Amino acid sequence: MIIADQKVVSIHYKLTNDDGLVIQESSGGEPLSYVHGAGNIIPGLESALAGKSTGDKLSVSVDPDEGYGARNDALVQELPREVFEGVEDIQEGMQFQAHSEQGTHVITVTKVEGERITVDGNHPLAGQTLNFEVEVENVRDATAEEIAHGHVHKDG
Ligand code: ZN
Repeated sequence: MIIADQKVVSIHYKLTNDDGLVIQESSGGEPLSYVHGAGNIIPGLESALAGKSTGDKLSVSVDPDEGYGARNDALVQELPREVFEGVEDIQEGMQFQAHSEQGTHVITVTKVEGERITVDGNHPLAGQTLNFEVEVENVRDATAEEIAHGHVHKDG
């Protein structure tokens, strides 16, 4: 079956950055399943998969504008420690959910200096070129419910 909108596609993939560092990998675990055309995965990967079918292997290099976007330095902020009231031990690498007019996103603590906490609201993969090695495991029709919901239901 050919990958097109309203198909449920299952892939195994390995994601590396330009330094060859493995960022994510599905092999050994469950394949990633998504509804094609529903914006479940980044646009650059979704468009590369269109027209492929089960058993196909592909290498895709996705620029930031087709991936998680460019880094935005305005999303890096220094905050006073009292903003994190209730968090006992703030450390670099901690992540918090932040709510704004743009919706919910994750901020990461990047520096802790006394009373000043630096946080970064960029997606961890923003600004990076993403290199995917993909193998298409399965393609099936999405159910009416999956199409309505825009996501995959286990066992169809
Ligand atoms: Zn659902």
